[in-house]
Amino acid sequence: MQLVRLLKRKKMAKKKQAENISKHCSYHEATHSDTAKRNGVDNKPTEEHLETMKVTAEKLFEPLREYVGAPIRINSFYRSEALNKLLKGGARRSQHMQGEAMDLDALSGRSNAEMFMIIKDQLEFDQLIWEGGNNKEPEWVHVSYTEKRKNRKQVLKMKRKGSRISYWEFDGCETCG
Ligand SMILES: [Zn+2]
Repeated sequence: MQLVRLLKRKKMAKKKQAENISKHCSYHEATHSDTAKRNGVDNKPTEEHLETMKVTAEKLFEPLREYVGAPIRINSFYRSEALNKLLKGGARRSQHMQGEAMDLDALSGRSNAEMFMIIKDQLEFDQLIWEGGNNKEPEWVHVSYTEKRKNRKQVLKMKRKGSRISYWEFDGCETCG
């Protein structure tokens, strides 16, 4: 009886681990969406998307977390097509839908601006966006990584004018050296 229970527990632990996207990114964090929940929309990644998410987390999230040395909030990672359609301002061909993009928000230790600069200067990425906020601090940081082609290393700044959103080439910030 004891042994059976132990084996069962071991199996469950293994299953739980398999569901983690990476060491510091849980499946729940990577797929959770209030909007999806509220609208009864399925946000379950396919096997292929899941594999892509693991690469994204390994190439971007884990090294960034290492630099930051503290937990980082994941605002949004995977978005199913149905969820992406529900989100205002969600790009029609958003890399979130492939599991290639993450929206990050600093929790402690570093600011969003600092995280942005670490990614920009230290990591390999496809697209990095300073999302909203002001010239000192973005509201959140969008970053993507791809294995489908060469990473573009594109650095942009999103600006809001009323409800209009536009993207500009990143032109620096007041707090960045
Ligand atoms: Zn994003």
